[in-house]
Amino acid sequence: MAVITRPVAEDLRTLMRGAVHLRGEAGYAAEVEGFNLLSPTRPDLVVVPEDEADVQAAVRWAAAHAQTVHPQLTGHGAYRALEHGMLLKTSRLTHLRVDADRASWTMGAGLRWMDILPELHRHGLGAVTGSARTVGAVGLILGGGIGPLGLTLGMASDWARAFRVVDGRGDVLVASPTENTDLFWALRGGKVGLGVVTEMTVAAPRTPFVYGGGLFYGAADIHRVTHAWLDWVRDIPDSVNTSIAILRLPPEVPVIGGSAVLHVRYAYVEPGASTDELAEGGEALLAGWRELAGPTILDTVGVLPSDRLGEIHSEPEGPIPVWEWGDFLEDIDHDFIDTLLSHVGAAREAPLATVEIRLQGGAIVREPAVPSAVGGKAQPFTLLVLGMPSDELAPWEVVEAAGHAIRDDVAGYSGAQINYNWANHPSSDTFRTRLWSQEASDRLRNVRAAVDPDGVFEHGN
Ligand SMILES: Cc1cc2nc3c(=O)[nH]c(=O)nc-3n(C[C@H](O)[C@H](O)[C@H](O)COP(=O)(O)OP(=O)(O)OC[C@H]3O[C@@H](n4cnc5c(N)ncnc54)[C@H](O)[C@@H]3O)c2cc1C
Repeated sequence: MAVITRPVAEDLRTLMRGAVHLRGEAGYAAEVEGFNLLSPTRPDLVVVPEDEADVQAAVRWAAAHAQTVHPQLTGHGAYRALEHGMLLKTSRLTHLRVDADRASWTMGAGLRWMDILPELHRHGLGAVTGSARTVGAVGLILGGGIGPLGLTLGMASDWARAFRVVDGRGDVLVASPTENTDLFWALRGGKVGLGVVTEMTVAAPRTPFVYGGGLFYGAADIHRVTHAWLDWVRDIPDSVNTSIAILRLPPEVPVIGGSAVLHVRYAYVEPGASTDELAEGGEALLAGWRELAGPTILDTVGVLPSDRLGEIHSEPEGPIPVWEWGDFLEDIDHDFIDTLLSHVGAAREAPLATVEIRLQGGAIVREPAVPSAVGGKAQPFTLLVLGMPSDELAPWEVVEAAGHAIRDDVAGYSGAQINYNWANHPSSDTFRTRLWSQEASDRLRNVRAAVDPDGVFEHGN
């Protein structure tokens, strides 16, 4: 790869309105910092385009100077060192147009869910998001996007209607159900090596409110309530969305900090329902659970406006140090729960902040009207193990050893596929064999070769 010197970078500055920072220059450090403080991001240069024409100029310049291009917004997906090439930050592509009549929105690639949701709510709409409001909408949808309303409304990517993409030659392509249809299929789940998305149009459900939140159970109840959840989810309708997480939060967090707690997430979704109807329907379906699980130490369930969907999971907002491992599972049983609790149950001093199980199924499994490349839909449960290493409390090695011990003990439950958004930076083996079916993998390879024949968008696999 060619070395980028100051005079060479000056040439790029004359071609772009946006910012260009070489490693070591003022402005570089602020632009390369992302969500995960433990993920070294030190590319040769970072560019921050002002608009789509800037993205084209940056990609063409990178191709001409043998630089790889790495599109990024928040760094939520950065789990591997990036020490070369061009980091292309989309953070200034921030336009947003909501079409309330058509129930859709068109957005620049620089928006996170938290930037979009208030506007949608104001127009009487909701969105199919992931769990964290700080994640970028494009990054999530490129992987599929499994979120707190998924069992009712499907994958976030099922709602995508069109993309504008700058390809490896610097040309703009529109991908939709009628244009560049292979690319449209690939951009919903194929995740990497597909160009830089500059703009996306997404349909919005008419769900300005849901009925949801979190039910927290104290350490003494974790064992009983976790087992009860596994029984309860066998028999819930698709209007109910739920997941659980064993959390270990710092003592300064009121009520739920200082010891292990179980967080049961709940969302009842009924498009078009009034807030009264949501409360009535949502409570009716929760009644059986409340009886089964008993008293909570904190209950935040209620009518929730769509701009507060992030409160269902209440993910950490970062930047934070993160060690993470996830998998998609075949059906789990009570032995699985016991195994997991032998690592992170109340009796253990586990150095892991979150161990989460999500229920899949419902609308997640259904193929959208226009099929997509999303993998991992058929696995009925997901598992995520997350630690926040710190030199004083739990060094990286300790967190990693605890995470790997879980990974090894539950390996027998590992599913045939895993979705890209759970795989972080997948190994070559995972990339080839577990993210998609063989047929989808072959088709994606062809789409990537057509969009980026010279391999400008390096994706590590
Ligand atoms: C706290 C947390 C919660 C999460 N919750 C969920 C969840 O509930 N459901 C779920 O499905 N996933 C979830 N994820 C995973 C997340 O969806 C992915 O990591 C996603 O890629 C993040 O997108 P980003 O733009 O915020 O991150 P970035 O790190 O900025 O981007 C990640 C990758 O997306 C691609 N990308 C981003 N923008 C563009 C663009 N404009 N053009 C082309 N490629 C682009 C690039 O390959 C980039 O490396 C979560 C991650 C974290 C850290």
